[in-house]
Amino acid sequence: MALREGALRLNLLLNSRTFYKCNSSVGVRSLSDNVSSSAPSSAPEIAGDHLIYTQEHFALKESLRKIIDQEINPHVEQWEAEGIFPAHKVFKILGNAGFLGVNKPVEYGGLGLDYSYSVAMAEELGHIRCGGIPMAIGVQTDMTTPALARFGSAELKQEFLLPSIMGDKVACLGVSEVGAGSDVSSIMTKAVRKGDEYVINGGKMWTTNGTQADWICLLVNTSDGSPHRNKSLICVPMNLPGVQIARKIEKLGMWSSDTAEVFFDDVHVPCKNIIGQEGMGFTYQMLQFQEERLWAVANMLTMMENVIQETIQYTRQRKIFKRPVLHHQSVHFRLAELQTEVELLRALLHSATALYIKGNDVTKLASMAKLKGGRLAREVGDSCLQFWGGMGFTSDVLVSRFYRDSRLMSIGGGADEVMLGIICKYMDILPKK
Ligand SMILES: Cc1cc2nc3c(=O)[nH]c(=O)nc-3n(C[C@H](O)[C@H](O)[C@H](O)COP(=O)(O)OP(=O)(O)OC[C@H]3O[C@@H](n4cnc5c(N)ncnc54)[C@H](O)[C@@H]3O)c2cc1C
Repeated sequence: MALREGALRLNLLLNSRTFYKCNSSVGVRSLSDNVSSSAPSSAPEIAGDHLIYTQEHFALKESLRKIIDQEINPHVEQWEAEGIFPAHKVFKILGNAGFLGVNKPVEYGGLGLDYSYSVAMAEELGHIRCGGIPMAIGVQTDMTTPALARFGSAELKQEFLLPSIMGDKVACLGVSEVGAGSDVSSIMTKAVRKGDEYVINGGKMWTTNGTQADWICLLVNTSDGSPHRNKSLICVPMNLPGVQIARKIEKLGMWSSDTAEVFFDDVHVPCKNIIGQEGMGFTYQMLQFQEERLWAVANMLTMMENVIQETIQYTRQRKIFKRPVLHHQSVHFRLAELQTEVELLRALLHSATALYIKGNDVTKLASMAKLKGGRLAREVGDSCLQFWGGMGFTSDVLVSRFYRDSRLMSIGGGADEVMLGIICKYMDILPKK
């Protein structure tokens, strides 16, 4: 029912949107012909039987793929070498086309669709030939803005959500600190209320998009009470006096995504910039993590499939001992096993998504998928790189970039052990402290 409503809404919106143009007309704001008249060429015939995707999902994916192929992939090598990509330029293209708010409210520029469309989009973004740019887009769409969209005041949404959906503002998320990553409850950054302002002091670490962002969704302590009830999320413009980008962090992977350490030194922010209720920030952030984790798994699925496919192509033509590498049983059996695991993960992701759009709490399933996604990515990267031999160790091939980039999946957004802790809690087997 929800999916049907989503599809109808997409049709409705597509007919009322302005058209995005690059080399050809693409974007969900320009799909009306495809959606209303005939199925797009790549929409599989199975769309009607797909667990969560309709023809509209496939139309959205196809449209996004055009932007990826025309506007992003041709520049990936350069942006990886430069250690940063032009977020404002890329986000404006995506925002114009409607891709930065597929599940966000229509009155703030979104398409008002359900979360399955975000998952479809995340899967398609996996066709970008690096991990850093999809991650930066995901931070904008599914990590910094869900709480704002759900709990923010109309004024706050107008100021921060709408321009983020339109691609006019770049957002970042400030949760992790030098001394607090896995244990979010122990963050130290503080916001003290003075009149109608908060005065913020502290620092955030590992802030994706941090050197280019216009605003940060900042988790701070607003009182000294219990660590789960003393936190708030506040929208902080990055150009305020006292906000300092301390440094851009050099990393093993995700090179085209800028990662910053940010300091807040007596930063004055209006109290109205708080998202929802004071003291509810921890809860809002935990809810926000559900979408972040589903998004990350969806994105990783496509990347894993692409790496497996490119490994099949390479090993089919590369000969050792007078026959293709692929024809050695240990190679084709291993690739078949990895693809099987990918399919299992996809089934888990799609069933979690189906439950989520019906309003269920999917924290346990999302954590399981994130755990499995991180571990499988490590297996896919390691096994496939091995089959490329020396070529796999060069910078010229996707598999070596994937090997570096995907290592983050078991650490960022909650490490594997944090996921295991959550799963144990839901299974009621976590010993009490
Ligand atoms: C490239 C990159 C981008 C990031 N982007 C952002 C961002 O935009 N915004 C943001 O807020 N954060 C961001 N992060 C931070 C990320 O979410 C944290 O790195 C992550 O939560 C882990 O925290 P930590 O690095 O402090 O590791 P720590 O908390 O020090 O943990 C170290 C290790 O301890 C182990 N561990 C953790 N918990 C347990 C346990 N219960 N039992 C046993 N072992 C355990 C895990 O193996 C873990 O890796 C980013 C990180 C990176 C590397």
